[in-house]
Amino acid sequence: MRPDMDSRPEHHNTSSPAQAHHCRHDVDRVLVDRRRIARRVQELADDIRRCYDGELTILGVLTGSLVFLADLVRQLPMRLRIYTVAASSYAGNTTRPGELRTHLDETIELAGRDVLIVDDILDSGQTLAALTAAVRARNPQSVRVCVLLRKEPASPGRLEAEFVGFTVEPEFVVGYGLDYNDLYRNLPDVCTLRPEVFAHDEGATP
Ligand code: 5GP
Ligand code: MG
Repeated sequence: MRPDMDSRPEHHNTSSPAQAHHCRHDVDRVLVDRRRIARRVQELADDIRRCYDGELTILGVLTGSLVFLADLVRQLPMRLRIYTVAASSYAGNTTRPGELRTHLDETIELAGRDVLIVDDILDSGQTLAALTAAVRARNPQSVRVCVLLRKEPASPGRLEAEFVGFTVEPEFVVGYGLDYNDLYRNLPDVCTLRPEVFAHDEGATP
């Protein structure tokens, strides 16, 4: 313990390691703040509700959609079945670009159902194209896609989502579920990170 702290109670210690390493210190800019996100999630839920008469099956893509999914489903009043699917696309020098893994549980009943895939961000669209194809192969009644963010410009022929929260510039974003190196998902706003954060990770491809 530092000598000057000797007589201070623990909760008055303002230079605790937890504060010093708060992830908001790594934020460069807030691109979409929590209030705009909340308003837009409500609007998206209204649009989704108008699109479906009966029950809806939601398929949330982990892990990035976690926070968005939790907020969105609580604004949807219809009978919902909520499932999650793990999907990861590999890019960079150690794996084959474009290789995609989805783990769509075979026990999830999709035949004849209206399926809405919910993901964090639409970038190349490879993840969602592969997942949409995997869902279609199960003979659902319909398949639509909802993303919090879509990056612009889109590559030619990219899959588009029926429901989009915000369109963003082609820069790497974190927060509200989106990660860098599995960190920053808990930031309540969609943000960019300070360049120094990436400088430590040689070979990383944000
Ligand atoms: P796509 O297959 O559309 O290129 O990639 C989509 C996935 O890549 C997203 O679900 C997300 O996990 C990741 N991704 C793409 N752009 C970003 C970004 O700007 N920030 C973060 N954190 N992840 C991204
Ligand atoms: Mg993702």
